[in-house]
Amino acid sequence: FSVSCRKSSLQPEEAEAVGELRMRAWQTTGYDGVDGLLLGSVRVPPILLPRDVLVRVQAASVNPIDTAIINGYGGEVLNMMRTLGRLEQGILDDNQMEFPLTAGRDFAGEVVSVGQDVKSLAVSDRVFGVVSPQRQGSHAEFVTTAASNVCLMPNNINAEEAASVPYAALTAWSAVMVTGMLTPDAAPRSKVLLLGASGGVGTIICQLLSSWGAQVVGLCSSDALDLVTSLGVEALDYREPTTKDMLIAEGGFDLVINATGEDDLDYMKALKPWKGCSYITLSPPLLRNIDSMGLAAGLFKSARQVLCRNATSLSEGRAYKWAFYMPNPWALNQLAKMLASQRIRPVIDKIFPFTEAPEAYRYVIDGHARGKTVLSLS
Ligand code: NDP
Repeated sequence: FSVSCRKSSLQPEEAEAVGELRMRAWQTTGYDGVDGLLLGSVRVPPILLPRDVLVRVQAASVNPIDTAIINGYGGEVLNMMRTLGRLEQGILDDNQMEFPLTAGRDFAGEVVSVGQDVKSLAVSDRVFGVVSPQRQGSHAEFVTTAASNVCLMPNNINAEEAASVPYAALTAWSAVMVTGMLTPDAAPRSKVLLLGASGGVGTIICQLLSSWGAQVVGLCSSDALDLVTSLGVEALDYREPTTKDMLIAEGGFDLVINATGEDDLDYMKALKPWKGCSYITLSPPLLRNIDSMGLAAGLFKSARQVLCRNATSLSEGRAYKWAFYMPNPWALNQLAKMLASQRIRPVIDKIFPFTEAPEAYRYVIDGHARGKTVLSLS
């Protein structure tokens, strides 16, 4: 395949033959979960598009999506995206490159090579960023991604801290700003109820909203109360029998965001009625429906589910919405600035050596995250 390196910190002969260079990567050759993960020796992913960068990975986080993808979650849609990605690269075959599959959606590291059209980044830049889900992931020694998905790493944080942020924070941004339509200007007049405040996404939502001046109640387990309070929000134990009833009786919320993985529609009643207020879930059934029923039927079932849900909730003056991770170069830059100015800080639960990735995946699967789980390659 063609390699288009404008500048590279690899040895010249390495750069010319980057596709022949090998690296270690955690891969699966079937949807066998963690037991199917193998640390293999594979080719370093070449730069195939002129706006790509090749990054030597120093740290990468493990997100719940990684543990789901190695069990087949989203396989139908991801295969369609892989086909489109290969068409973009001018590869006209029906090989979807599904396997072997490397998970990992975000990373921090050092740029070692840039495509010919990349102007914003240079070799040796310390960066952090995300990888599109149709691409080979970041649980590897090198990753190739679009330069627009990458941003300079703030100097005040290390690679493990930087790697813990992008995917969860862009999901948080998307839930709050895009789906929730809550802007920094409106935040000081807004009251938000956050379920899952102690998790990877929740810890970022807490900090985003508190830095914008929103009034936030974050629900978490009792052992996470101190952590969530330290993120600038009011923390309540959701396991206390009175918590839910108290919040519903108090009401007056403009937004309820559920970042737990389990819907709890009772909390819709905590929203102000007839004020355009929304309950947002980060666990829509869309991809699961498409996995089990195919694209057309899955889309149809999902549309019906969201419409039915809204038929009930809209009649009570409240909306029910699905939120998704979205790549967003502008937001990634804003997040880098917020990290640099310490308006948000990385919250790391546990760091595992790269060689112990299966343990890290199991740790994430066990749940009860207190921030992020990170793989370190240094
Ligand atoms: P984490 O596993 O990091 O965090 C989940 C947190 O929720 C844990 O701290 C857990 O702690 C807590 N929790 C569980 N049950 C409750 C409850 N009933 N009330 C309050 N807190 C609870 O997940 P992430 O933050 O990374 O992601 C959150 C969810 O969003 C996941 O389901 C993930 O799959 C999904 N997601 C969806 C995306 C999309 O594009 N739609 C993108 C990214 C994430 P404990 O159990 O100890 O209380």
